[in-house]
Amino acid sequence: MSNQLPRSRRKKVEQALEDGVNPKGSPRSKKKPKIHRFARSRVKVGTMRTIRFPLLETEMGDPWPVRVTVIHGSKPGPVLTLLGAVHGDELIGPMALTHLLGTQFCGPDRPIDPENLAGTIRIVPVVNLPGYRMRSRYFPDGRDLNRESPGSSKGNTTSRVAQRVFKNIIAGSDYVIDVHTAARGRTNLPQIRADLADPASNLIARAFGIEVILDSLGPRGSFRRSANEMGIGYVTYEGGGTSSSFGLFSSSNSEGMYLVLDAKNNSRDTDSSSVGADLIGEVYVTVEERVMLPKISAYLLCCSLPFVVIIAPLILHQRYNRGGWHDVSTKHYIPEVDLMHMVETTQGSTSNPYVDETDV
Ligand SMILES: [Zn+2]
Repeated sequence: MSNQLPRSRRKKVEQALEDGVNPKGSPRSKKKPKIHRFARSRVKVGTMRTIRFPLLETEMGDPWPVRVTVIHGSKPGPVLTLLGAVHGDELIGPMALTHLLGTQFCGPDRPIDPENLAGTIRIVPVVNLPGYRMRSRYFPDGRDLNRESPGSSKGNTTSRVAQRVFKNIIAGSDYVIDVHTAARGRTNLPQIRADLADPASNLIARAFGIEVILDSLGPRGSFRRSANEMGIGYVTYEGGGTSSSFGLFSSSNSEGMYLVLDAKNNSRDTDSSSVGADLIGEVYVTVEERVMLPKISAYLLCCSLPFVVIIAPLILHQRYNRGGWHDVSTKHYIPEVDLMHMVETTQGSTSNPYVDETDV
């Protein structure tokens, strides 16, 4: 694609290639690694730890805790962050990163062994947790997390989350790989998008060994754009479509999965160029459509309540009148009144007051 770039842009990209690698986090550094700090947690050298990082600081409600796994190597090196599902319905990121966190790749004597690792890897399979749960690209307030960066602590919900993600997860990285798919209704040819005029992004984009690299600045408000402005190497992988994932994963002992991670080190005997590497095995995931209630359901429910309150008493009233149970039981409830008064005489006997008994 480089021959289609404007001359001025091509010069910038060539300059980036000449400038070479971002010196930050060089594996040749003689400094010994220290404890890695993430948010308020610490990860010891040569260990791996999963931390729950809340996207929001709330006193009530769900703070949306996302899982961040930190693999802190015992050798000096860069901090590489891998992000999935920044858009909640783009599933290839969660699938690939969860696969990478499995015992096939992580742990003692595995390709990613904290004891032998040079540098630190932070893996966040699902960033946009509420969107992932709702199977939606967006946050619950309808905003796009990847258009609110670097965010504000006094902004809307998505902006506050963007600020926490950028400050805690992205800002402390030397390199970021952000795994996406095409938006809803489209499918992307697997590709890397990066600002190739940025040396660090250029390096990691080429390390992918992928056929298609698109040179572009990140959209305004995207994490990629904000990270590049801070000098962080950032690439976006785009492949497949939403709500379904088509992935090509290597089998055991194949290096396809970690060649990108290893591009900064290349210390193993088995290391080779990722270009043309064999990827074997296919994983195909399709999410079934769920029956979703329309948005007006809540309104319909609220509107139907007054009708229920009015109609139900009317029906009960009618049933009472037609049932006729008053015919059966009225006589038991109306007391009989005796109109004849009985008068007590002085002799203690009862007599009729309307008859003069003395005239007999
Ligand atoms: Zn996306």
